[in-house]
Amino acid sequence: AFEVRRVHPGEFERIYDLHFKAGRTRSRSYPIMESLAGAAIAFVLGWGGYQVMQGGTTVGQFMTFFVAMAASYHPLRSLANLNAGLQHGLAAAERVFETIDAQPTIANTPNAGPLTVTGGGSAPGGGSAPGGGSAPGGHVAFNDVRFSYVPDKTALHGVSIDAPPGKTVALVGPSGAGKSTVLNLILRFYDAQQGDVTIDGRNIRDVTLKSLRDAIALVSQEVTLFNDTIRANILYGRPDAREEEMIEAAEAAAAHSFIAQLPDGYDTIVGERGLRLSGGQRQRLAIARAMLRNAPILLLDEATSALDSEAERQVQDALRRLMAGRTTLVIAHRLSTVANADVIYVLDRGHVVDSGTHHELLSRGGVYARLCQMQFEDGMSLGEAEPAAAVSARG
Ligand code: ATP
Repeated sequence: AFEVRRVHPGEFERIYDLHFKAGRTRSRSYPIMESLAGAAIAFVLGWGGYQVMQGGTTVGQFMTFFVAMAASYHPLRSLANLNAGLQHGLAAAERVFETIDAQPTIANTPNAGPLTVTGGGSAPGGGSAPGGGSAPGGHVAFNDVRFSYVPDKTALHGVSIDAPPGKTVALVGPSGAGKSTVLNLILRFYDAQQGDVTIDGRNIRDVTLKSLRDAIALVSQEVTLFNDTIRANILYGRPDAREEEMIEAAEAAAAHSFIAQLPDGYDTIVGERGLRLSGGQRQRLAIARAMLRNAPILLLDEATSALDSEAERQVQDALRRLMAGRTTLVIAHRLSTVANADVIYVLDRGHVVDSGTHHELLSRGGVYARLCQMQFEDGMSLGEAEPAAAVSARG
């Protein structure tokens, strides 16, 4: 549910009409210009010939003039066309500059300082994030957060969520409940209108955007792969990582073995015009990227599309390694994920309607139990939704 620019009704028709109009004008102007030029030449020939016959000018003078005029015809025409191209370019440049000059609505506050979060996962390739001895950080909290994308349609009505350091918090709820909105607010793609979001007690508005986003890894459902090598795609997580760190991350993401089998290995071009990877392979590349990033906070939008059981197992194993030791907020679509979460928040139409562990929530009945029945697959008895059972039930 990340932002998509809306097309106004009738916008395509308007573009179609404008293109048609431009085409019509072009096809009219060409014959008109050619006819006018022809008429001018005929006039000059007639008038010049008459002058020569009258003895007012010599054939040589007339021919000099006539040849010069003919020679200047083409350059003059290109000049006219050049103007058309120039106008086109200027109009396009104006739009480009409008975009370049647009001021982001979310910006650093004047006295924003860097956010430093200690801790992070035990994942490989962890060069940048400080880890080890210090007390783990990455405590994410929503305090009575109210937010709406558009006036009069509130997406979150005073939501409070507590994600303790290193724990996994699952967000569940029907479509449109506000789960993606919660992740959008942590990343500061938008600012809350009321209440605040804090990390380790610091309001995220008071820290620099860069340091905030450096502390977070996002693995979304839609994996964006650039038209580049697998290596470059993984390094996107942390461009200055060393080759060994990159490979270690791929190994931890259960991606190394399939990459090694490709003819060009890590140099294989993937993405739009490159090798088409399967859904599971794309997900594992995204996980490798996040592994390499080694951020203490992980935002995960679990894929809804079903993978075959072997691919599913590999993705789940990789995710488990990625989540270890990080504060994870996951939009859960798998029963195994909610069953394994430390705490589950049930959202409905922008409200937190319940929270607790899987068993607590199930025993209370209500929205969560109904959701489980409707949303989480397999039709297995929820009472026996032990983590292991849940995982193997998918197998
Ligand atoms: P889903 O599971 O379908 O992704 P969700 O629980 O993630 O749903 P959100 O995407 O957070 O729900 O949406 C919450 C509400 O905000 C919905 O009513 C939705 O229509 C609205 N909304 C989401 N994104 C935007 C946006 N960019 N502009 C306007 N309204 C939005």
